[in-house]
Amino acid sequence: MVQNYYQKEIETMSVEEMKKLQSEKLKKQVKHVYENVPYYKNLMDEKGVKPEDVNGIEDLHKLPFLTKADLRDAYPYGLLAKPLEDCVRIQSTSGTTGRRVVAFYTQKDVDLWEDCCARAIVAAGGSNKDVCQIAYGYGLFTGGPGLNGGSHKVGCLTLPMSSGNTERQIQFMTDLSATILCCTPSYAAYIGETLKEQGYKPEDIPLKAGIFGAEPWTEEMRRSIEETLGIKAYDIYGLTETSGPGVAFECSEQTGMHINEDHFLAEIIDPDTGEVLPEGTKGELVFTALDKEAFPLLRYRTRDICVLSRKKCSCGRTLIKMAKPMGRSDDMLIIRGVNVFPSQIETVLLEQGYTPNYRIEVDRANNNDTLDVYVELTSDQFSDTVKDIAIKEKELASAVKTMLGINPKMHLVPPKSIARSEGKAVRVVDKRKLHD
Ligand code: ADP
Ligand code: ZN
Repeated sequence: MVQNYYQKEIETMSVEEMKKLQSEKLKKQVKHVYENVPYYKNLMDEKGVKPEDVNGIEDLHKLPFLTKADLRDAYPYGLLAKPLEDCVRIQSTSGTTGRRVVAFYTQKDVDLWEDCCARAIVAAGGSNKDVCQIAYGYGLFTGGPGLNGGSHKVGCLTLPMSSGNTERQIQFMTDLSATILCCTPSYAAYIGETLKEQGYKPEDIPLKAGIFGAEPWTEEMRRSIEETLGIKAYDIYGLTETSGPGVAFECSEQTGMHINEDHFLAEIIDPDTGEVLPEGTKGELVFTALDKEAFPLLRYRTRDICVLSRKKCSCGRTLIKMAKPMGRSDDMLIIRGVNVFPSQIETVLLEQGYTPNYRIEVDRANNNDTLDVYVELTSDQFSDTVKDIAIKEKELASAVKTMLGINPKMHLVPPKSIARSEGKAVRVVDKRKLHD
């Protein structure tokens, strides 16, 4: 297979060269931030670190962390490193876990971000021969604008659909022969389900690849989407605080995402102690933006839990890889003292032949945590007798218990009874929080 790169020199650079490049950029960036962001200067002063103490990436650990709480404290302008006259764009987080955070971009920042998305599209096989349908939300959310810019840079014919209006998505996809679909994995699953209901077989669907991210999704979910749409599904990762999607992207090997480490320097830390962990250890991902001008966060704690690896990749890229994040540390549920990631439940459901349409409800009854999982049946599965369904619920509960170590109550519910997602899926309802 011919490998294509968008910026070959960077994407295949030797590790030593990359580290040298990162070190040079880091020195400059620390100075830029220290001189222009009083909020971060204070944090550095409190820690007794001066810009001249940072001479390369080996000194990164000396710098203070930034957290989402800092971003909220400094809202809206407190972390801005350029005059507003130099900024051309504002984007904002989806607010999944609290008050929104706003991020600023200069034209150079937008360009670099779009380059990152272009690398992802090319890695997924995209070129100027492709029609790229972008069904991430447009607007303040970074998904639509980021991939839109990347798609232009690659020269794809870009369909800026935004999310929602699934009928129209399908009409444009089929009438205009879209070859690449970009959206959240939960929306891709919904589009696939709708196509299937309309009688489309995978081979009738013009798509060849999908670039899906912005939320956690499992390998099982990937396989299910790939089968339904007849495509290869690539993961893409990013967050508004570091620009948006394209911080990391998957290649043909599909074993984790290459981090665009010429722009984003990654570390893994112990979320409890802040200690930097060796490569290959699971922990919280921390990013330092090396090139961003307007909103250059240093050592930003993402709260995403994953592992980094420099194992050689068959695609020829030398960029370090991050494993699929298991979910954010704040997505983790503690149920009867056991740590539970919703993705673990998703894995069991799909392995057992159920759909990714499910809802997890956690509550407290008689001082005990309860875990209820509602799983939607397909119309075929639903035609079973009530007795069969009860047996299936038991079987599924036992499979989930094996995975998590705690007993859930499973509810198999009728087709179409669980709301579909057009953006980031909300699958967990923690009712315990309502009682606090
Ligand atoms: P919010 O924090 O409000 O959701 P963002 O839209 O900036 O705002 O979302 C960024 C977050 O989305 C990341 O920190 C991560 O938790 C999640 N995310 C993005 N891409 C992926 C992915 N490919 N896999 C898992 N999680 C992802
Ligand atoms: Zn690769």
